Amino acid sequence: MSSLWSGLVGVTRQLLTDPVCTVCEVPLSTPTLLCAPCMAGLDGLPQSSASENDVVCLGGYDGILKASVLALKRGGDSRLLDRLADHLADIVRFAQFSPDLITWIPGSKQRVRQNGFDHGQRLATAVAARLGTPAVRCLGRNQRGPGQHELSLEDRWDRSQGRFSVRKSADQSLAGAKVLLVDDVLTTGASAAEATEVLLAAGSAAIKTAVLAVTPRRYPTPR
Ligand SMILES: [Zn+2]
Repeated sequence: MSSLWSGLVGVTRQLLTDPVCTVCEVPLSTPTLLCAPCMAGLDGLPQSSASENDVVCLGGYDGILKASVLALKRGGDSRLLDRLADHLADIVRFAQFSPDLITWIPGSKQRVRQNGFDHGQRLATAVAARLGTPAVRCLGRNQRGPGQHELSLEDRWDRSQGRFSVRKSADQSLAGAKVLLVDDVLTTGASAAEATEVLLAAGSAAIKTAVLAVTPRRYPTPR
C-alpha cells in the first residue's frame, strides 16, 4: 500500500513540477514552454499557405498545427498564442485585407464554462492587437441541438441554420464594416458560412475568415 501511495505522490509531484511542452507535452529539462521541435515547427509555418474564396489559413489540420490547436483549446500559454496570432496576422496582411473590426465564432456555452475561457476569443483578441483593429464580440450562439461532433457532415450544414445571431450591441460597429472572422479550425465551413451570413445581414460590407487550420477533407494539405 505504501509503495502505491508513494507512487501516486510521485506522479502527482511530477505533474505539478516537471515542465512539459505546452504543444506536444514531452517532458522538458528546462522550464521553457515549448520544446525545440515544436518551436521550430511554429517558426516554420508558411506565411501564406492557402487562400480560397474568403478564407485564409496557416495550413492543413495535422502535425504542428493540429497539436497547436489542441494545446490552445486546453489553455496553452501566452507564448503559443503569441506565435499563432503572429502568423495569423501575417496572412491577413498578406491577403491585403484591412478589417475595421475583428470578431470570432463563439465557443459553445458548455465548453466555455468548462474551460473558463473561449479560445476563439483569445485568438481573435491577440490577432486584433497585432493588426491594430478592435476585437468586438458580435456573435452569440442560439441554443440548442446536438454538438457538431455528433453530426454527419451533411447534417452539419442542415443543422447549422440559425445557430448564430448578431448581438444588438454590435449593430453599430458592424454597419458598413469590413470584418475579419477568426476561428481555430475550418472543417465543413458551415459555421463560418453561417456566421458570415448573419454578419452581412447585420450590415457588414465584407467578411474574410482567418483560421489556423483547415481539415484535409476540405482542402488537401499542401506539401
Ligand atoms: Zn513540443
